[in-house]
Amino acid sequence: MEIQHLLLIDIDGLRGDIFRQALEAGKIPNLARLLGGPSAARGLLVPALSTAPSVTFCAQASLFTGAHPKAHGIPGNQFFDRFGKHNHGIPRHYAFDVGDTLAVDDAVLVFTNRLAANCLEAPTIYEIADAWGWRSVVAGHMYAKGAETWLRPSVVDLARFTKGGDLFGMSSQEYDRSILEKTIAHIKKHGLPNILTCYMMGLDHESHVHSPNIQLEYLSTGIDPLVGKLWAAIENALPTEDQDKLLCAVFSDHGQISVVPDDRHSLRLAFPFEREMGHLFDALGLDVHDYPGEDPDCDAVVASNGGMAHVYLRNPKESWQERPDFETDVLPVAKAFWQAHQSGEYAAELQGALNSVLLRDVKTHGWTAPYQALIPSGEIVSLESWFANQPAELSIDPVARLDNLAGPYTGDLLLISNYAEGFYFSGLLEGVHGGLHPADSCATMAFGWPHACAETWQQASNQIKNAIAARCAQENGRQPSVADLLTGLMSAISMVEK
Ligand SMILES: [Zn+2]
Repeated sequence: MEIQHLLLIDIDGLRGDIFRQALEAGKIPNLARLLGGPSAARGLLVPALSTAPSVTFCAQASLFTGAHPKAHGIPGNQFFDRFGKHNHGIPRHYAFDVGDTLAVDDAVLVFTNRLAANCLEAPTIYEIADAWGWRSVVAGHMYAKGAETWLRPSVVDLARFTKGGDLFGMSSQEYDRSILEKTIAHIKKHGLPNILTCYMMGLDHESHVHSPNIQLEYLSTGIDPLVGKLWAAIENALPTEDQDKLLCAVFSDHGQISVVPDDRHSLRLAFPFEREMGHLFDALGLDVHDYPGEDPDCDAVVASNGGMAHVYLRNPKESWQERPDFETDVLPVAKAFWQAHQSGEYAAELQGALNSVLLRDVKTHGWTAPYQALIPSGEIVSLESWFANQPAELSIDPVARLDNLAGPYTGDLLLISNYAEGFYFSGLLEGVHGGLHPADSCATMAFGWPHACAETWQQASNQIKNAIAARCAQENGRQPSVADLLTGLMSAISMVEK
């Protein structure tokens, strides 16, 4: 028995605990079929963590390349490329999620100009499988590099969905259904490809707007019936003798956490609305990137990613490509953030808003310099020591995840918002993600081989577990992560039958 087909169901923002709960309560019978039926007899659940930051474009890149953020080049929904590597050498702020300072809508360019995919610096599963002669179809997803067919959301649908919300735009349910319908139509016409990725954003959107409490309901009534229709189309398209050649995975990029949906807790850089963080840079005499098109001509850039924000700093006498000086360019700004947090000095709005101020010295250690923590008294300590002294329930596997983030496109500072009191770096929302908290960091990852015999499944699930455990052990004993989806899939595909 060999695997010839992969069905990848990607449900943006689905918390790992919600998926498990829905499965155990029998609320998602169609998704359960992908794992071998109601008791998931051919399914394996892996407790995978999102990337740091736990945001879509960063974590999705890890899911589909198997690489950590430091290697795949996309350290957030928002980030600043100070080298202009993918922009003719001109520094560029990316905001795939419709950012605070946006002039051109990057969220649309993701699908019209492959904007996000062009920044990827690691090969996708489709590029890898292309070398085996496999054909891939990608529906709704931002990274389709190497796939033969990319079924994109229509730009009109996307704009209605991301901007319109429910009232005058398109509902999450309509959006997800439109992606599913495109996928099913494609299968009916062209058969089942070797890899089929189906990506649904509706659940994440609903969680932002209404809080993650809606997840169980949306998963069971909004998504599960769609998966049932997809499954029927797949069974129709696959000859009976080939049904046991299909391996499935159901997964997400991150979870969601409830926050306080008011102005005080929603921290924005942000032109032209709120300038909470802008005041801090003003007070230090730094020109922060806060209006569209300003990218290279400023001293500081903030990239907001929900529970986390990158702060990029420039030596005012040099270009962005030069390394900033730690003592004069980086440390004073880091200290100012703690002061603002403690006393409201520099920026009254930041009082009480921060959980951590992390920093790194690229002048000494280069562009992949690891992060350390500044403690409010001014001392610099290791991440291990900083997180060991914090309440353990606030973050999960923080050191490994931050070490796997630090790369050329990450900030000189990393700010982590105070989730314990409901703060976040974004416009006003009920639910967010991006931080290191278990609620927004625990993703869904399930492998299923619905038509495998018991013995083959036993062997495959052991193979998947062992491959992931071996990689985690090799990488400093970290916990399983979204970067392990490929580790698991590849180990099952390469399994040789005894
Ligand atoms: Zn997401």
